[in-house]
Amino acid sequence: MRIAFLGLGIMGRPMASNLVKAGHEVSVWNRSARQHIDGARTAVSPADAAKDAELVWMCVADTAAVERLVFSDDGIEQSLREGMVIADSSTISPSATVRFAQRVAEKGVQWIDAPVTGSKIGAENGQLIFIVGGPAETVQAMEPLFKAMGKTVIHVGDTGKGQSAKICMNLQIAMIYQGFAEGLTLARKLGVAPEKMVELVQASMIRSGVVDYKAPFVLRGDYSPNFPLRLMHKDIHLLLDTAKEVRVKLPALETVDEIYELSSEEGWDDLDYAATIQLLEKWAGLGGPGK
Ligand code: NAP
Repeated sequence: MRIAFLGLGIMGRPMASNLVKAGHEVSVWNRSARQHIDGARTAVSPADAAKDAELVWMCVADTAAVERLVFSDDGIEQSLREGMVIADSSTISPSATVRFAQRVAEKGVQWIDAPVTGSKIGAENGQLIFIVGGPAETVQAMEPLFKAMGKTVIHVGDTGKGQSAKICMNLQIAMIYQGFAEGLTLARKLGVAPEKMVELVQASMIRSGVVDYKAPFVLRGDYSPNFPLRLMHKDIHLLLDTAKEVRVKLPALETVDEIYELSSEEGWDDLDYAATIQLLEKWAGLGGPGK
């Protein structure tokens, strides 16, 4: 299949590579550096990438980036033809997704929201989970593409429902991690070895995939970005804005947002979101684990 892939960041780069490895004819575009992918054509603009494509896949930072890719002067809107499909693996606003989909539908183009979970390791290993919104026949027809990049497709419902489910999942990731971070910090202050606390958490009913993934990094004090703090912070704002649109209150998330605001002020935007634990350690008068 002829595919344009736009956005070669932590997630997009391995996803596009996996499409190339699966034998697809891929053209890629990225706003700045890291533009080349072996076996893919490097395009000069989103419109250029999309010009011969049957399907355009995007994985960029946020709602504004998606809007720019699709609707700016050199955006893919210029190259849209009836029957094309746009798949968006960025995590963006559900309501904006519905608006964007309505706009491209005027050209006979379908919009599939397909945000992912699995982080950097899942993207690199082709083990992502796709959380999908859009017409069932189109989602089924895309099965080989999903399988090239991931292990599971959960078709949630109509266009926008994938994004809705994804942000509600990230709400829980942020909170589960914050619970782990606060529990670990207090335990350390009380003299419990961090490795013992992790052993207990993982042996008990509070074991979680979030802690499976993050604990080894936290115990090493390694906050190199798998899921950058700035992107989780973006998702927290997406959640708070979306909740306001539908008049739902999220008081615990508002508190977690404050932790992210302070972490951002510390200059940790490009670290992993696990770095938020460093604030708790600072307030508790502790160094990182093992210090
Ligand atoms: P990333 O490494 O920061 O990459 C972001 C990508 O978006 C880069 O290609 C960047 O281009 C591009 N971009 C940002 N602003 C842009 C703009 N205004 N116009 C055009 N391109 C723009 O992020 P990532 O980790 O790959 O995440 C991508 C998306 O997947 C995000 O929505 C994120 O929330 C979601 N996600 C991430 C993870 C994870 O664990 N990392 C997991 C699930 C979902 P440049 O290279 O030019 O900056």
